[in-house]
Amino acid sequence: MQKKMRIRVAIDGPAAAGKSTVAKRLAKMLSFVYIDTGAMYRALTLEVLKENIPLDDEEKILALLKKTSIELKQQEGEQLVFVNGEDVTAKIRENDVSKAVSHVAKLPSIREEMVKRQRELAENVNVIMDGRDIGTNVIPDAEVKVFLIASVEERAKRRYEENVKKGIPSDLETLKKEIAERDKRDMEREHAPLERASDAVAIDTTNLTIDDVVEKILTLINQVRDQQL
Ligand code: C5P
Repeated sequence: MQKKMRIRVAIDGPAAAGKSTVAKRLAKMLSFVYIDTGAMYRALTLEVLKENIPLDDEEKILALLKKTSIELKQQEGEQLVFVNGEDVTAKIRENDVSKAVSHVAKLPSIREEMVKRQRELAENVNVIMDGRDIGTNVIPDAEVKVFLIASVEERAKRRYEENVKKGIPSDLETLKKEIAERDKRDMEREHAPLERASDAVAIDTTNLTIDDVVEKILTLINQVRDQQL
């Protein structure tokens, strides 16, 4: 019987480590489906803020999630995020969402529902998924697992430059503080915290370009492809 060929790439790491930039680039090159799981938590957080639900009211947030459709659509190499049919791609990147999201993401029943949706999206396709718990929890048997790291200074600098390009006012020191706080909450939460899977390849991107990182992950993917042949 012919072996089923499928490649699932899990990319995890702390905030602003370049995960989505690299994942998007790879998905486009390889025609894989790209799933930005952080965007799903952000989309829910946007709704929670809109509805004025306290960030620790798990029951209400779960009820809201159950009636909320979150869609990720790929369009000309870009990923668009829709909540109940509305395009929220830009809104979910705003600062109030960034500051609240890790509070919502630590709620166990929310994670359970999100992980269920993420696994459904990854069913039967070649996929690149980025997040915090992909290699440890969402797809623990992923064919390729990568954990991207970079110093908090470098990550804040990259986010700052991104914001400047987009015309979003920001302050480097504040960004650094907010990124560090979000990482701390993500690492210290009880359920599926941010951590490197024991079999994930760690790549420190501090002194690497995006192309370098893409190249390194491509090499890992090609090794798996060769083994599958
Ligand atoms: O990747 P991004 O920075 O957009 O993720 C936003 C937040 O969503 C993270 O800080 C984390 O709290 C949460 N998240 C998560 N698990 C994932 C992806 C994101 O808890 N798989």
